[in-house]
Amino acid sequence: LKKPNIVILGAGYAGMITASRLTKQLGHNEANITLVNKHDYHYQTTWLHEPAAGTLSPERTRMPINSVLDLNKIKFVKDSVVEIKREEKRVVLENGELEFDYLVVGLGAEAETFGVPGVHEHAFSKWTVNGAREVKEHIEYMFAKYNNTPEPQDELLTFIVAGAGFTGIEFIGELSERLPQLCAHYDVPKDKVKMYVIEAAPSALPGFDPELVEYAMNLLESRGVEFKINCPIKEVTESGVTLASGDEIKAGTVVWATGVRGSSVIEKSGFENMRGRIKVDLDLRAPGHENIFVIGDCALMINEEINRPYPPTAQIAMQMAEVCANNIKALMKGDSLKQFKPDIKGTVASLGGKEAIGVVGTRKLFGTSANFMKKMIDNRYLFLLGGPALVLKRGKNPM
Ligand code: FAD
Repeated sequence: LKKPNIVILGAGYAGMITASRLTKQLGHNEANITLVNKHDYHYQTTWLHEPAAGTLSPERTRMPINSVLDLNKIKFVKDSVVEIKREEKRVVLENGELEFDYLVVGLGAEAETFGVPGVHEHAFSKWTVNGAREVKEHIEYMFAKYNNTPEPQDELLTFIVAGAGFTGIEFIGELSERLPQLCAHYDVPKDKVKMYVIEAAPSALPGFDPELVEYAMNLLESRGVEFKINCPIKEVTESGVTLASGDEIKAGTVVWATGVRGSSVIEKSGFENMRGRIKVDLDLRAPGHENIFVIGDCALMINEEINRPYPPTAQIAMQMAEVCANNIKALMKGDSLKQFKPDIKGTVASLGGKEAIGVVGTRKLFGTSANFMKKMIDNRYLFLLGGPALVLKRGKNPM
């Protein structure tokens, strides 16, 4: 009897947990499992605001895939996915093709520009290890250049973050925390540096508890961050941003963090989608596709209580992966499939240094207790992926 081919696309939170669970739950002779990823390492996207601002080495946010998955039990293919040929059950890669009986799509997200011109050309919008490296190097170059221009160019020291959501706030938290050290290192007066967070919506951190939002904004303002809320950006240019009001803010650095859309592979492959995300059935399959599971940021699921989609988070990606692995095994054995129901344990946003805000269960957390919880959440993921050994090797010190 031919062993079925299970192909997993993407080695992020969704793909790695699915791969790890399937290799444990299925015997070697039950299936051929293949994982495809652009790089031969896995990175923790939720940590990337730190290397982007230069407060953590990028090496701390990634790990070789063969250090966490047993490559005797799973085949790893380092390649880029170009298209999924749904009806032919094939995946087209940049350098080859794969046939599947069961497919897991976990290709993550890409920046949402909302059609604002100039984002891809002039802003930093890639939340990947290489993207984070580029932002860090660029920020340092702006500081280094400042004292080497004949005329003072203050805009070199103006940093704009577009979007006051989770990612934008966590990034400016790290950058504002690092600022005194950058100024000292590059002999730059602190009052020359300007940091803006520009948000089109009527509040920062939409959906977060207002008391926590106020705490975060006050803290960041005390470090010199200026918020421009209710202030859509019309265009990103070579010299900064133009606002809907027509005003221009000159800046040497624009970091784009206004939210995400699903992988462009989804649209290219002809799936019905909303901003690159597939509205999955409750068992996590793409509608009309018996053997294709879509999980993580590529999947869209509605929270019936508020009739809005669940936000794309690592927390949900990991929970989806557990159910997906279970359901593939169930399909293979002819058992009934589980329905996915997110179990939101809480949300914590770091604000740089020992500061954070969050809600865990019904408890609001501020400052160091929230920061402790944030590090525990980061470590919990490592535990789920690789057990206590991975936490000891790669975890964060919560104190
Ligand atoms: P990802 O983890 O992004 O993984 C996708 C993988 O697919 C990557 O390895 C990528 O290289 C690979 N890939 C992509 N395209 C291709 C291709 N064409 N071919 C081959 N491989 C490909 N969520 C939380 O729950 N809590 C947080 O505190 C939090 N903080 C965040 C902070 C930041 C700075 C950012 C950017 C996000 C944060 N998120 C947080 C959101 C979270 O990171 C995502 O929801 C999560 O990463 C989604 O997991 P995923 O597996 O779908 O995608």
